[in-house]
Amino acid sequence: MSTQPRLVLATRNQHKLDELRAILAAEGVDTAGVVSAADVDGPDVQETGVTFAENALLKARALVAHTGLPAVADDSGFAVDVLGGSPGVFSVYWAGRQRDDAANNALLLAQLEDVGPEHRGAQFVCAGALVTPDGREEVREGVVRGRLLAEPVGDGGFGYDPLFVPDGHDRSYAQLTAAQKNAISHRSRAFRELAPLIAELLA
Ligand code: IMP
Repeated sequence: MSTQPRLVLATRNQHKLDELRAILAAEGVDTAGVVSAADVDGPDVQETGVTFAENALLKARALVAHTGLPAVADDSGFAVDVLGGSPGVFSVYWAGRQRDDAANNALLLAQLEDVGPEHRGAQFVCAGALVTPDGREEVREGVVRGRLLAEPVGDGGFGYDPLFVPDGHDRSYAQLTAAQKNAISHRSRAFRELAPLIAELLA
């Protein structure tokens, strides 16, 4: 790595790293020192929290302990109103530990088969956490409201994308391009809320 790392993002997902970099760049931050957990051989963290915020903090704290650098982590999921916010933090494991998107979607649709359109409100939620080596902890949440479809629509995206139409749109998340989804997503909203704090920290 040519540039000295200054902030670590707790993901091995290049897409999330690019997204955070783009949002920070829009805030005027020099993102050369923003690296991913893969770049610093970050630890695997068990997500034992029962809220998005707790899990994001667990991941960020572990990375701060590992690197001595400020860290940003996110945790997100799909929350259905009539299920009291489930699958929520259990989104990825809803149909079992195999992390199977199609099985998760099929189970959720089967559970709600008899629920009419007026009761199918749902949202994607993302908590973004910034933790610094001196113990400062900040959490910001991004939420996108919409509704749960009765069957999957669209081939793009991942996870629950084919089941969700955001408010103000008539296409599912899985029918949007990556750029369209990024522009409105729960994750980009959380990262945008954190961006000024990160900008200040790296100034
Ligand atoms: P993560 O915290 O970003 O790893 O997301 C956890 C799980 O929540 C994913 O495996 C998906 O099941 C669900 N999820 C989070 N964000 C999205 C999204 O943007 N689209 C579809 N599913 C998502």
